[in-house]
Amino acid sequence: MAKIHTIHCKDETSTAEAVKALSQAILHFYADHPQKTASLFVSLDGDLGTGKTTATRYLLKAMGYGGKVKSPTYSLCEEHMLQLPNHHELQVFHFDLYRMQGPSEWQEAGLLEHFDHHDCATLCIVEWPQKAEHTLPVMDLAITLMHPSDPASEFARTIEIVALTPKGEALLIQLSTP
Ligand code: ADP
Ligand code: MG
Repeated sequence: MAKIHTIHCKDETSTAEAVKALSQAILHFYADHPQKTASLFVSLDGDLGTGKTTATRYLLKAMGYGGKVKSPTYSLCEEHMLQLPNHHELQVFHFDLYRMQGPSEWQEAGLLEHFDHHDCATLCIVEWPQKAEHTLPVMDLAITLMHPSDPASEFARTIEIVALTPKGEALLIQLSTP
């Protein structure tokens, strides 16, 4: 079963296309799981400037979101409500844990409760997951963005997507199906 999917993006437009393909797989998942408790957890790893926030913006846009996607650098978490094609609501929690001093910070702020949200379907996206240490729930997809080894290809990125759960594996299969 496909557990790793690697995409080489030559520029930002190809990143947007790769993320669009992922958005289709994610929409497919929520169409298959119309229950209120449907949830997906995705981490975005990678150095500063590799495009974690940019990828999140393209992802939400490709999922039909028309609002502004502010980087959660200062707030730790930004919330967005999306309307799925089946008219159900999808609550997106976009975390950026870069500035977090220690895992107790997001625990005390009640942010970990977002992983257990049952009012509607949820999608949790976590930038800088390593800052959460042992408090991070198991992610369905662990995505790593990398700068190119050749500095001449300034706009190229490699995106590696690893499935860590059966839900994540189903998404990867969907993503690799032409
Ligand atoms: P991060 O959240 O990982 O710190 P950002 O998304 O804030 O990174 O910034 C990434 C920057 O890199 C943006 O200015 C974006 O326009 C630029 N960029 C250049 N090439 C690419 C690419 N191929 N994919 C994504 N972003 C790219
Ligand atoms: Mg960012």
